[in-house]
Amino acid sequence: MISIAGWWRHLRLRLTGKELILTGKCRQCGACCRRLQLEQSRRWLRSHRAFKRLVKDHPEFNRFEICGRDRQGLLVFNCTKLGADNRCHDYDQRPQLCRDFPHKGIFFCGGALPPGCGYKITEGVPFETHLRKARNKSGSHS
Ligand code: SF4
Ligand code: SF4
Repeated sequence: MISIAGWWRHLRLRLTGKELILTGKCRQCGACCRRLQLEQSRRWLRSHRAFKRLVKDHPEFNRFEICGRDRQGLLVFNCTKLGADNRCHDYDQRPQLCRDFPHKGIFFCGGALPPGCGYKITEGVPFETHLRKARNKSGSHS
């Protein structure tokens, strides 16, 4: 779910011609499989009932167990498929949410990569834009 801060980030990127750039690689620390939050219908889960509904609709989510709440009252989950070696013990059957991580969209939802994650999301001008500008410049001189 996009946050107000996320809208501003989106707008700032549009105005500056920048994009989000994902760099780095996974260090297999397992941090993204612990203390994570889940959403359904673009709403973060707050109640046990909402979690039960999610599992009913998407049984693959039964791997997650509630381990607490954050300061805003949103449910926080750990994944039962994470091994003591920080590896996923159900890698081939992992849900789409895990396959998509780290998704740049977290930048617009007020989220952040877990501390120590080997990836980074930064703002920058895409290479194609630099190239197009350079071509336009050389075209105007010929
Ligand atoms: S938090 Fe980042 S580095 Fe750690 S397992 Fe997840 S993707 Fe890999
Ligand atoms: S299914 Fe695997 S990749 Fe997904 S949260 Fe659980 S341990 Fe992590």
